[in-house]
Amino acid sequence: MENKEAYIEFLNTWNDAMWYAFLAALAVAALIFIIYKIRYMSAGGYKEKFEFASEKEIKAYLLVNYAIAAGIFFIANSAKPQIVEISYIWFIIRVFISMCLGTLHAYVAFLIFKYYYPGPLDKKLKKLRYKPRINPATGNEMKLLSEAEEDAYLDEGMQAEEDAFSVDYDVWIDEATGDTKIEKYKGHLSALECDRCGFQTLKLEKEEIITPATEDTAGEIQKEYKCSYCGRIKRKTMKLTTKLEKEDILAALSKGRLAGDNQIELIRIEIQSMDGETKSFEFQNRDEAKKFLEEFDFSKLRQTSY
Ligand SMILES: [Zn+2]
Repeated sequence: MENKEAYIEFLNTWNDAMWYAFLAALAVAALIFIIYKIRYMSAGGYKEKFEFASEKEIKAYLLVNYAIAAGIFFIANSAKPQIVEISYIWFIIRVFISMCLGTLHAYVAFLIFKYYYPGPLDKKLKKLRYKPRINPATGNEMKLLSEAEEDAYLDEGMQAEEDAFSVDYDVWIDEATGDTKIEKYKGHLSALECDRCGFQTLKLEKEEIITPATEDTAGEIQKEYKCSYCGRIKRKTMKLTTKLEKEDILAALSKGRLAGDNQIELIRIEIQSMDGETKSFEFQNRDEAKKFLEEFDFSKLRQTSY
């Protein structure tokens, strides 16, 4: 009997402690969330917000959810007091179930933020990246130059870097004054869709120039992608050229091997951007493909693919 009273007294203390721990865990979760939001809001311009969010957002949201998972563990440990009073066995069972619930929440959150959330985050980041910049000197809205236009504003080193590596320079111009603002982005920050598991988790791991391009011959660059979900490693060797090869493709379509062949069922043109995104277009015959290439504006593709 005395034993039972001691047990019940212990349970009361335990319940109080679990409640305080639950509130503390929620407070920690809220605090992490608020601190993240404040740091994001005060990160400065869109470019700074972009960098901050791409580096910290997933980590911050994971921490918030781990704190919530701890909260679930604590609050579940104060549930069903009448049943637990019957025997200490129930107390142990409750601790065990609480652990399962907390772990479940943490694990689901981990899966969501590691494998699903990078997709939506990427959209948000692209919005930040392409929101019109304001010229601080005049207050005018600036215009983002297309790939073709921007070369005039980039020095040779920047252009080479853009051509070879997954680096992008965005050039914003104030059309009234000619003021420019150049922002550098690392293309490999955003993940691609993995062709094996379908998640947005394929990331560029390394790039290596195998043979450098010269004025008249194309070089080669090897890119290695790794999927953080299924572990797929994808290596791609790409041509490294100093100019667009649209003319070469057109020439190949008009003469050479293709022209002699009347059995063509399908022509597929794959266009690959520097960040590894591929767009493919299919045509029934040579003429359609030629027409497409002649009319095709590569800068438009860039815009639609973002
Ligand atoms: Zn995968």
